Amino acid sequence: MTSLRWRVRAFAKVNLALYVGARRADGYHPVATVIQRLALYDRLEISVEKRSAPGLEIRVWADVPGVPENEENLAGKAVRLLAPELARAGYGGARVTVRIEKRIPAAAGLGGGSADAAAVLESLDQRLGLGIGREELARRAAALGSDVPACLYQEATVGTGRGERVQPVAAPVLWWVLAHPGGALRTGDVYQAYDGLRPPRPGPEAPGGEDERLRSAVEPLVRALSNSNVAEIANNLYNDLQEAACRLRPDIEPLLEAMMAQGALGAIVSGSGPTVAALAPSPAMAERIAAALSSGSAWTWWGPGLASGSGTAW
Ligand code: ATP
Repeated sequence: MTSLRWRVRAFAKVNLALYVGARRADGYHPVATVIQRLALYDRLEISVEKRSAPGLEIRVWADVPGVPENEENLAGKAVRLLAPELARAGYGGARVTVRIEKRIPAAAGLGGGSADAAAVLESLDQRLGLGIGREELARRAAALGSDVPACLYQEATVGTGRGERVQPVAAPVLWWVLAHPGGALRTGDVYQAYDGLRPPRPGPEAPGGEDERLRSAVEPLVRALSNSNVAEIANNLYNDLQEAACRLRPDIEPLLEAMMAQGALGAIVSGSGPTVAALAPSPAMAERIAAALSSGSAWTWWGPGLASGSGTAW
């Protein structure tokens, strides 16, 4: 029986911008979003054992309660997605085990589940020589969740469509402070609250009009990132879901205010929340803001976003 075992890190994400359009007929909302990965990560230990019995056995569990197991977990779904390639590479009869050391708060707007799934996809492809490649993985990963393709990239990305069409963009190292007020926010509930807040559309829009509007909305931020202009980046932090998240969770607003009062350049709800992310002018200020917030009941973290290289033209 052959057995392979390795460890991999799955990095959280923050949405610097999230523009959301009207709900489509398929139930999804079109978005344009800009994501940076953070130096906050789950640790995954993955092992693959070839067995004599046929069939793929998938075992996944995390070291904290409340995270789904096995094929209910996004990391388990990621293994299942690669079943055809695993079989072709001689792993048709195998037990794949993923043990997750969870450091990213779950259901927090930080993409923890998506990051775990992406780390599984990428590392199975590379370690077992499945020969799929990142672009094809990104195309297929959309079936697991809109944020999974972006999590295949360590660099910053712009996501369009329902967030799953991703393109890497240049970005400097930015210093972030996260504060999580506790509890969870279900992404579906936040989108539903958002729909309730939107004024009805004035009339039919030209085909592609909404997608185009959303794409151009993120352009000033993409430019500021490529120029490493931190003040402009802060000016362009934006989240269409923020108002809905704040209505569902009145404990978010005081965190945003406290971060700004402590000297953040900007503060925003990340994704569907309830985590709040503040952009700090320096690591020292990030540490200071986090220290001030940690005297309350919120979970806090501070550290860098991951830098990206030149990216491709947007
Ligand atoms: P996003 O910002 O991508 O919407 P999120 O950060 O709000 O995601 P996740 O941490 O990815 O949320 O968790 C969302 C839900 O997914 C959880 O409520 C949990 O039940 C489920 N889930 C499945 N797999 C995982 C995983 N590996 N880690 C955390 N949650 C998982």
